[in-house]
Amino acid sequence: MTAEASCCVCGKALDGSNTAECNNCGWPFHLNRRNDVEGKDCGDVWINEQYLSLEFGCFNCLGNTEATGAEPPVGRGH
Ligand SMILES: [Zn+2]
Ligand SMILES: [Zn+2]
Repeated sequence: MTAEASCCVCGKALDGSNTAECNNCGWPFHLNRRNDVEGKDCGDVWINEQYLSLEFGCFNCLGNTEATGAEPPVGRGH
């Protein structure tokens, strides 16, 4: 038996098929690997041009606030 993994970004359970592991923090997150199916993305994947390997990054590490719907910071007056 394996412990049920949960996404490090949204905290919901991972089903195992749409899962990737962040190369930065090492935690699993939701990643839709199919373009023809609606899926949840809690991170991003790209190709490392130096090593030609796939790199995975969760939105926590990428600093993407879209997943949480957080408002952008209001510009400070000067
Ligand atoms: Zn998630
Ligand atoms: Zn991460």
